[in-house]
Amino acid sequence: MAHRKVALVTGASSGIGNAIARSLHRNGVTVYAGARRVSRMNDLDDLGITTLALDVTKPESVEHVVDRIVSETGRIDILVNNAGYGLMGAIEEVPLEQAQNQFDVNLFGVARLIQSVLPMMRQQHAGRIINISSVDGKVAQPFGGWYVASKFALEGLSDALRFELASQGVQVAVIEPGGIQSEWSDIAAEHLQETSANGPYAQGASRAAAILTAAKRFASKPQVIARLVDRAALSRRPKTRYTAGAGNEILIARRLLSDKALDHLWRLVGKAAEQIIR
Ligand code: NDP
Repeated sequence: MAHRKVALVTGASSGIGNAIARSLHRNGVTVYAGARRVSRMNDLDDLGITTLALDVTKPESVEHVVDRIVSETGRIDILVNNAGYGLMGAIEEVPLEQAQNQFDVNLFGVARLIQSVLPMMRQQHAGRIINISSVDGKVAQPFGGWYVASKFALEGLSDALRFELASQGVQVAVIEPGGIQSEWSDIAAEHLQETSANGPYAQGASRAAAILTAAKRFASKPQVIARLVDRAALSRRPKTRYTAGAGNEILIARRLLSDKALDHLWRLVGKAAEQIIR
């Protein structure tokens, strides 16, 4: 008899993670949703989704969550590594402890979850690991150096993992969202202001923060990403990469243009964005 698939979604207290948890649940998956702010997941509880306290930077928290899922269901089929945030600020000015924390959440947090679920997935000889990267995993943006670095790293880690797990029955997919409505841009703009609003980068940083905040108006709904995750999680032959969301066409430009031509395009996009928000 076919069993119900079991999924863990990280960072489900907001934005994209919330939409992913709901959509997998609607598709008949038994969903466990994790985040630090458990009370922000009451809406998921009401749907019958199990919500759990999870801090991806804490090994004991990760272990506790994975142990609980395995003890309750005896399996784990789908891991969606979604928890993440954008540490913005000029590279020269971002304190390195903050940069380390960015990597601890966006990259090592992902690795902690992967290491924790893989023994079960290998035993099942089946599983899906879905990593939420970004268009910023392929294209850098000014004042996003540490965030971009964490997502570029996540892209490479995911490719290596895909090779390593090919013979184990576990498939790996990367999702590269463009601009999506969530708390992400507010948090990113706040970091940018805190770090770079008063120093030598003040002018560019204030402009970039204003664009980040204004871009929310043009951002896509989190459900467009949830639909991609459904496909990565449930289709028989998942792709290695999926993209959707405002501005994701920049990935095509990245493939076609030289570095300098892309820099030029980026500057033009920045200028156009400034005109729009004025
Ligand atoms: P939100 O800020 O709305 O949500 C981020 C989620 O991550 C929250 O649920 C937060 O929960 C969780 N989180 C943050 N730190 C931790 C931690 N240490 N442990 C566990 N959970 C944590 O942003 P989005 O929904 O937009 O972001 C989701 C993912 O999508 C991120 O990886 C982001 O980089 C990526 N992305 C977003 C884009 C966008 O335009 N919005 C574009 C491209 C990629 P809590 O604070 O309760 O722990």
